Amino acid sequence: MFKFGQDIGIDLGTATILVYVKGKGVVLKEPSVVAIDTKTGRVLKVGLEAQNMIGRTPGNIVAIRPLRDGVISDFDTTEKMIRYFLKKVCRNRFFKPRVMICVPSQATGVEERAVHDAAMQAGASKTYIIEEPIAAAIGAGLDISKPYGNMIVDIGGGTADVAVISLGEIVVSSSIKVAGDKFDEAVVRYIRKKHNIMIGDRTAEELKIEIGCVYPRDEVLSREIKGRCLVTGLPKVVTVNSNEMLEAFEECATMIVDAVHAVLEKTPPELVGDISTGGILLTGGGSLIYGLDKLLSHETGLDVHIAEDAEFCVARGTGLSLNYMDTIRTGTRRPYGDVR
Ligand code: ADP
Ligand code: MG
Repeated sequence: MFKFGQDIGIDLGTATILVYVKGKGVVLKEPSVVAIDTKTGRVLKVGLEAQNMIGRTPGNIVAIRPLRDGVISDFDTTEKMIRYFLKKVCRNRFFKPRVMICVPSQATGVEERAVHDAAMQAGASKTYIIEEPIAAAIGAGLDISKPYGNMIVDIGGGTADVAVISLGEIVVSSSIKVAGDKFDEAVVRYIRKKHNIMIGDRTAEELKIEIGCVYPRDEVLSREIKGRCLVTGLPKVVTVNSNEMLEAFEECATMIVDAVHAVLEKTPPELVGDISTGGILLTGGGSLIYGLDKLLSHETGLDVHIAEDAEFCVARGTGLSLNYMDTIRTGTRRPYGDVR
């Protein structure tokens, strides 16, 4: 009896890797982290297990994020990571899957090729690469096949990507390295300067998610945090509130707003007209920071919506796009009007 292979979509994000299997949905969501033994160069753990090792390992083991800045700096490790995740979801070795991968937007053609080859070596029957904003739009349920302008702002860990899409292609886009990670770093810096204590990245991220905001909250929230006092070197507890977070995030938030403005300025007028009707769609985990929709709406005068399941849009889009193989361009991605 003849059976078709599986169709798999991979969102190779700077912070998170998601795998979508046709007919099942998103089956895997793990941090894009790899633990390496620096003495032997061996990959010890991948994903969640690697993340749990951060800060708790002997000196010769380091946990790294090979895609952190949206650039694939370490091919070897990235390849091992892809292989590991593909193996994890493909128990049945006999049917080689078709794989659609979305790589970070700042990746070069050479890096894309490396990802493609890694997936092939990991056992894919065919591998395609899709541009991130296209995947995000498809995953968010937009119909991008018409001559109509849609604006997508995808904010991840390492990069924020702004794109205007029409007729299934990117018309104008921009990618900046200001996203979730930069917000975390801003919290660390702010707390050190204002309260004289040092906190870790994990604590900073928790603060961002729990009380952070880039637009004033209706109700001021506060939270106690523990850190190391820079004066005494001893543990110290301070209370931080959401208005302080607003201050800490101002610079990062402004850079995202500016990127959106820059893309709007380069967008042909007819498409701007469409966007003023349809609004801007936010996707990616970083877009969940409180008030980003309100801030962008305030600064552009446009409607701004956060996509349902914003963190899953790209993954779902990669999987679904395997249905439209004929209409999606693959290969190098240097769209017209790129303002990067
Ligand atoms: P990538 O596509 O680059 O892998 P993701 O889309 O997974 O990134 O987004 C990861 C970022 O989203 C992280 O910086 C994380 O802190 C942030 N994030 C996730 N949930 C929230 C939330 N509720 N509020 C603010 N930031 C969030
Ligand atoms: Mg992403």
